[in-house]
Amino acid sequence: MKVFAFSYRDFDEAPHFTEISKELGIELGISREKPTIDNIRLAEGYDALSVLTTPVDAAMMDELADMGIKMVSTRTVGYEHVDLEAARRHGIHVSNGSYPPNSVADYAIMLMLMATRKIKHIMARGDMHDFTLEGNLGRDFSSFTVGIVGTGRIGATVIKHLTGFGVKILAYDPYPNPELDRYATYATLDEIWRECDLISFHVPLLDSTYHLVNAESLAKMKDGVVLVNTARGGVIDSDALIDALASGKVGAAGLDVVENEFNMYYYDLKNEPFLHKQLATLKSFPNVIVTPHMAFYTDDDVRGMVSTSLHSIKLELTGQDNPWRVL
Ligand code: NAD
Repeated sequence: MKVFAFSYRDFDEAPHFTEISKELGIELGISREKPTIDNIRLAEGYDALSVLTTPVDAAMMDELADMGIKMVSTRTVGYEHVDLEAARRHGIHVSNGSYPPNSVADYAIMLMLMATRKIKHIMARGDMHDFTLEGNLGRDFSSFTVGIVGTGRIGATVIKHLTGFGVKILAYDPYPNPELDRYATYATLDEIWRECDLISFHVPLLDSTYHLVNAESLAKMKDGVVLVNTARGGVIDSDALIDALASGKVGAAGLDVVENEFNMYYYDLKNEPFLHKQLATLKSFPNVIVTPHMAFYTDDDVRGMVSTSLHSIKLELTGQDNPWRVL
């Protein structure tokens, strides 16, 4: 079985790719580049593709079908960058990755605390040896009502890990998890908007979650609400968030993801003009913490991403049950 891995990283993924492909009897081809319509033919002669978060669009799917590629496996949990409709048309299987939810969950909690305690501001001022108190007044996180939107693997872990802080937790998910009833109270989205001091998002990017945070939902939220997004940038309408930060409606935000982050995050752009105007504005707020889609980035999770991608390809293409199958 031959697998071609795009966006292959030497500094962290390589040892896992080497070890796991050997264990599964997979012959591996690699490119350090992301897949594009111009380089997709590198995968000619292979059975399946392993990719990261960059788009695999309809034109690329046409090429893959023409080459006889049977499967596209994304090493990420989210898979909205893979054109499922085009894959279905060509009968190409698609799978996503999975890894323990702890890293993302704990990162979200870290952003909650950092945003609530104005850490960006404190550290920026500390770097200039300004050790004064004025302007650094934080809020008591333990007294917060925290809203968790999306209670799948990551959201559920956030809820469990938050219990030690003594916060009151409201949760929303179209498919409530009864196991969480002892830690959180399920509520409607409107109740979450109205009652929560901090809201954290753990949903996939779907039509139903696109711009879940918009001018209308923001208007319903508490003044000074703290927003944390480790899900997908498209869950929050960036322009509406910028307006709400400027007016003080939103008191602080912790954003590991942002709209239109493709072709930006994971690249060294320090010598390039910075043209992402929304991110440039968001970064300019002292109360907005921005990180470049790093919540997953721990040793365990990187291994999990490579491992689930290669295992899912092996299972799918040998006709076995594939728990990571999307299509
Ligand atoms: P999951 O599939 O286990 O859980 C997603 C939950 O969202 C499900 O319970 C689902 O019912 C719920 N949901 C679906 N539509 C909803 C809606 N309209 N409103 C509220 N809830 C809704 O996924 P997960 O492993 O918990 O991951 C959640 C998301 O986190 C992923 O889809 C991905 O976008 C993001 N993620 C980000 C990083 C990162 O590094 N920042 C890493 C991994 C995952």
